[in-house]
Amino acid sequence: MKFHYRDLWVPQTATPDQIKSAYRKLARECHPDHTANPDAARFLLIGEAYQTLSDEAARRAYDAELQTYLRRRGWVLCPACGAHNEVPRIPESKVAMCGRCRTALPVNEKERRETQTAALREQAIDVVAELGADLLDLTGDYLHRRLQGVRARIGASSRKGAR
Ligand SMILES: [Zn+2]
Repeated sequence: MKFHYRDLWVPQTATPDQIKSAYRKLARECHPDHTANPDAARFLLIGEAYQTLSDEAARRAYDAELQTYLRRRGWVLCPACGAHNEVPRIPESKVAMCGRCRTALPVNEKERRETQTAALREQAIDVVAELGADLLDLTGDYLHRRLQGVRARIGASSRKGAR
C-alpha cells in the first residue's frame, strides 16, 4: 500500500490547490537543481503521490483502496499530515495524537474499540475466505464464539475503567 497523503504531508481532505502547492514545495526540497542534497527516491515517491492525487478519478479509486486498507487494520489517518496511525488504548482524559506531527487524532476510546472490533471481524472473514467456502460453516461458528469472547473481554475492561 502506498501512502500518498503522508508522502505529500497533506490531509485526506486537501483541495487540489493544496496538493499542488505541497507537491511543489517538497519537489523543490529534493530536486537536484534546487538542493545540495538531492533525494531521488523521495522525489519519485512524491511524484507518484502527486500523479495519483492530482487526477480526480485516480484519487477517488485510491481513496477507496486506502479506506479499506485502514479499516481492516483499525488505523486512523492524521487530519493534519496524512500519516496513518495505529492507535493503542486511549486512557481516560487523554487524547490520541499523531506519532508524526502530534496533532490530535479524530478518535475516542469508544470509537477506537469499535474500529478494532470491526477490523478483527474483517480479518477473521479474510481468514475464512482463504480457508475455503466448504469450511465456512464450521469456522463461522468457531469465529462467532471467539468474537463473543473478545467482546466480553472488551466489555469487562471498559466496565472496570468506568469505576
Ligand atoms: Zn500527523
